[in-house]
Amino acid sequence: MPTDDCCCQLPTALREALRSVPGRPQLTVLSGAGASAESGIATFRDAQHALWADFDPAELATEQAWRRDPARVWAWYEWRRRTVMDASPNEGHLALAALESRYDVTLITQNVDDLHERAGSSQVVHLHGSLFAPRCFACARPGTFHGLPPQADSPQSRMNPPGCKHCGGKVRPGVVWFGEALPQVAWKAAEAATVNTSLLVVVGTSAIVQPAARLPERALRAEVPVLEINTTPVLAQHHSAVIAWPCTAAAGLGALASQLL
Ligand SMILES: [Zn+2]
Repeated sequence: MPTDDCCCQLPTALREALRSVPGRPQLTVLSGAGASAESGIATFRDAQHALWADFDPAELATEQAWRRDPARVWAWYEWRRRTVMDASPNEGHLALAALESRYDVTLITQNVDDLHERAGSSQVVHLHGSLFAPRCFACARPGTFHGLPPQADSPQSRMNPPGCKHCGGKVRPGVVWFGEALPQVAWKAAEAATVNTSLLVVVGTSAIVQPAARLPERALRAEVPVLEINTTPVLAQHHSAVIAWPCTAAAGLGALASQLL
């Protein structure tokens, strides 16, 4: 549920321009942790649990941590997968899915959850990978889970990762760890979608940290209108051309959908 209403309006000229594009206008959305926060998904830095309180999450999200203690790392990601499975898409996710009735929407997300997909969005590019796409650490082919993760309120401190059915290697979480490059296929798709669009919406992320910051910069250079939806807009402070909507993701995306549909 939105925590407050968003009374922000698209500039009339922009709204009319979007409505007058023939066919199905392209909309591109870059979403971050703030888009999932209202579903109860803790942001990465908040993802502390009593069991993990002595650990810095950054210490669990590196290749070094995996090599040192794969059972510890696997257990932590299984706990995160469970918290996502227990959550539901919020009004912001649903508003983005609804926009597909009139627009060709490409969602670029920094989130590793599957809430956009579960809300009904059909084109989701995961810049940072996914909790639901494990792969073999040795041969990189897709892996499978043991089964459902344990309940979130009874996490395990260690779980042996599954074995790869192709090579016998250990299956690792399908997320991008610190120090790893972004998946190239996803990045190329994101770059293309941010310039070949009628509007770029940045929501729930400041989008000022590289490499993601390059996406709104490219859009602005290509004279694509950029809208930022954040409770405290940050991107707009760096780029005067950005339209700032100071509201939550759920309220802001709901307002956007009501103005564009
Ligand atoms: Zn393998």
